[in-house]
Amino acid sequence: MVREFAEREIAPHVMKWDEACEFPLGTVKELGRLGLLGMVFPAEYGGAGMGYLEYITAIEELSRVDGSVGIIVAAHTSLCSNHIFTAGNEEQKQKYIAKLATGEFIGAWALTEPGSGSDAGGARCTAVRKRDRWILNGAKTFCTNGHYADVVVVIAVTDKTAHTHGLSAFVVEKSTKGFRPGKKENKLGLRASDTAELIFEDCEVPAENLLGKEGDGFIDAMRILDGGRISIAALGLGMAQGAYEAALKYSKERKQFGKAISEFQAIAWKLADMATEIDAARLLTQRAAAMKDAGLKTTLESSMAKLYASEVAVRCANEGVQIHGGYGFIKDYPAEKFYRDVKLCTIGEGTSEIQRLVIARQILKD
Ligand SMILES: Cc1cc2nc3c(=O)[nH]c(=O)nc-3n(C[C@H](O)[C@H](O)[C@H](O)COP(=O)(O)OP(=O)(O)OC[C@H]3O[C@@H](n4cnc5c(N)ncnc54)[C@H](O)[C@@H]3O)c2cc1C
Repeated sequence: MVREFAEREIAPHVMKWDEACEFPLGTVKELGRLGLLGMVFPAEYGGAGMGYLEYITAIEELSRVDGSVGIIVAAHTSLCSNHIFTAGNEEQKQKYIAKLATGEFIGAWALTEPGSGSDAGGARCTAVRKRDRWILNGAKTFCTNGHYADVVVVIAVTDKTAHTHGLSAFVVEKSTKGFRPGKKENKLGLRASDTAELIFEDCEVPAENLLGKEGDGFIDAMRILDGGRISIAALGLGMAQGAYEAALKYSKERKQFGKAISEFQAIAWKLADMATEIDAARLLTQRAAAMKDAGLKTTLESSMAKLYASEVAVRCANEGVQIHGGYGFIKDYPAEKFYRDVKLCTIGEGTSEIQRLVIARQILKD
């Protein structure tokens, strides 16, 4: 169903959205009506009651056609909504999850700051308690869906002396006084997704919008990233699959020296490597998702899937352009867009270097 939807409703618009940096709001709302914005949440909260395996399959299928739609759904679901669902109290879940799951609300998640990316614990955005309110001050950067979000989960410092134990999470609604999205980033790829600066100036958040326990914001954010990284693996996987399918088709059609270029061993072996690596990436991604569905801790497996799938995606998109020759460099073919879009996967939700750091820590700790 997702594949049919993506091919029918998304594929015809992909290049127009990309060139205009147009956020596909209508399509996102339609995904909500189809139940694809709250797949992993129980029906009593308006979700589709499915598991992570089904969720990452949907992300893969959307990203096979347009990575921008993939990242919009991933940031909305596994970062924003899942943080509220995992750390929120019953009242917060009732208030926000149904609206997020149906697409009435669009969600965003703001951890990164101009001065703290990989070192997320170095955040400087502050939240100070004043009677029945928290007063937020500071700026977040690179926030996916930032300009379109009805609710944003924001991580801020509540105790400067406690380092990572001094961070807390808050739900901030878009109409909150003192909150506004700032600069919209002009990007290399995933140009139809929105990447925004968020500004908090004496932003007054009701005390009941504290998400999880005070001081648990960083630990909860790391738990959320364990799930989020599986969705970035699926995002990369979908784009790798799209790049591979385009290259496979082109290689059978394009003739040089009197034969299809797929008949040259140099091209056939590139396709063989792409197919093999994509399968391996899919198995790693599905393993992490299956473990998450089983309620197991997936820190190691999520990072392995994210690292491998995103690097496979970059390699496949690169070879996809190469197989297309000069036509891979022009915008009449999909290869160049995959090449631009995939790069985000080795950066967002922890760079490849940070994934290796996480994996090394996990395997060396015993
Ligand atoms: C399109 C897009 C969407 C995004 N969406 C979101 C979002 O919705 N919410 C959000 O909170 N963030 C988001 N981000 C931010 C993203 O998670 C960060 O960009 C990423 O974590 C890297 O942080 P940085 O850009 O500050 O790079 P830096 O941390 O400055 O890293 C620069 C380089 O140094 C390397 N490096 C840093 N520390 C180490 C180390 N200890 N060991 C080895 N190498 C290291 C990095 O790997 C990288 O190569 C998004 C980013 C982009 C580009």
